[in-house]
Amino acid sequence: MNPYTNEVVATFPDATDAEVDRALDTAQAAFEEWRDTPLADRAALLGRAAALLREQSEEYARILTLEMGKTIAEARAEVGLSADILQWYADRGEGLLQPRVLEHSPESGKSAKILKQPLGIIYTVEPWNFPYYQVVRVGAPQLMAGNTVVLKHASNVPQSAAAMEKLFHDAGAREGLLTNLYLTRDQSGRVIEDFRVRGVALTGSEGAGAVIASQAGKALKKSTLELGGNDAFIVLEDADIAKSAEWGAFGRYWNAGQVCCSSKRMIVLDGVYDEYLERFTAEVATRRAGDPFDEDTVLAPLSSQGAADDVKALIAEAVEHGATATEVGEPVPSTGAFVQPTILTGVTRDNPVFRKEIFGPVAMVLRAGSEDEAIEIANDTPYGLGGSVFTSDEAHGQELAERITTGMVYINHPTGVKADLPFGGVQNAGYGRELLDLGLNEFVNEKLVVVS
Ligand code: NAP
Repeated sequence: MNPYTNEVVATFPDATDAEVDRALDTAQAAFEEWRDTPLADRAALLGRAAALLREQSEEYARILTLEMGKTIAEARAEVGLSADILQWYADRGEGLLQPRVLEHSPESGKSAKILKQPLGIIYTVEPWNFPYYQVVRVGAPQLMAGNTVVLKHASNVPQSAAAMEKLFHDAGAREGLLTNLYLTRDQSGRVIEDFRVRGVALTGSEGAGAVIASQAGKALKKSTLELGGNDAFIVLEDADIAKSAEWGAFGRYWNAGQVCCSSKRMIVLDGVYDEYLERFTAEVATRRAGDPFDEDTVLAPLSSQGAADDVKALIAEAVEHGATATEVGEPVPSTGAFVQPTILTGVTRDNPVFRKEIFGPVAMVLRAGSEDEAIEIANDTPYGLGGSVFTSDEAHGQELAERITTGMVYINHPTGVKADLPFGGVQNAGYGRELLDLGLNEFVNEKLVVVS
């Protein structure tokens, strides 16, 4: 479904049970060969996939914009980021997988080391908001580690899912290395139960996380969960307010606000609250909504009409409990899954929406009387993904970062997504880390070998 026109572009049948069985057989056969493939050859495959993404950036980007609705500029950026991640592992994967020699009775001439060996098939369930980046975030490290990957992507991005399988195929992967399956929920549960599947990685909502983690736990398999977020964006009185407002508008409104780690709750110190709100509102108002294929469009439609309706319902719920919703900017197009950019003020901590994640172009701007109160508001959430502190005193910003209960804190920048920085959260934002050595190590057997 094209969320800009609400037209059906193509339809894809669910996998049959026979296809699922065959795919698992093929993924296991591929694993048995791939685990013995030299590290340099694994790295070369990732390098070729990175190069293909760069060479065919436009074709890959257009699929994202067509079925998920993000602007073409954002789609190109996602293709570039995905290529960067593939290249990062192509360049460093061999080094990360070297055995670690332990200090073990060195005087006796005995030795001990830890090998990093692959586990088998890793099943990954991914969301639609970054249809390539999310897949590559698991796929690149796990293929480098020698595992194979079976993917169940979100049902509204079937072409992006197929494009990821094709990318690895075109890069020279044998069949079964990364397999896309259009699975029903029942089939997903059965894949998790299959003994050959040795790990489960999900990015998605808390609800999906609770189901998939319990299925994995029941089958005695490790899982990683990258779930929702309600990131705080704290603006201190000594911050550069103009810059903070620019970054705040970017941090909240990129990808039409559909980012797990976007700056959803702006917590602004009393002394600069009015100035921040005024500048932030002006920044948000510059975001032109329209056809996501149009190079001038900054604000895209949401990924589906259902997603837009959910966001509008949360705005209404916030207002019902006493908040003020200010619609900002030129009216968004009347067709397509658009939501008018909205700023919520006066959201009290007993407003049920205060603790909910709004996955769309809606910012909460909250007032804090002191830094301590700002930290307390920041931590008053079931989530714990990222967060930001804006200040001209970087050392002080770092002190405050230590007091924020999240997996990531950025000083003078919204929580970011980069190829060379790890990603993940705590509490209801999930567990485990993706990217760097941390992501790779999630699904390897760190095997001890001792010579006595
Ligand atoms: P969602 O409904 O949980 O969907 C995510 C994926 O899980 C989709 O592939 C979906 O498949 C699948 N899924 C859901 N329930 C399932 C079940 N019972 N069994 C098997 N698969 C299941 O997520 P969403 O609401 O569309 O996506 C947005 C959420 O993802 C937000 O909460 C956002 O914060 C979070 N997110 C987190 C990160 C991060 O790294 N922390 C990154 C991006 C997004 P179907 O499409 O077929 O339902």
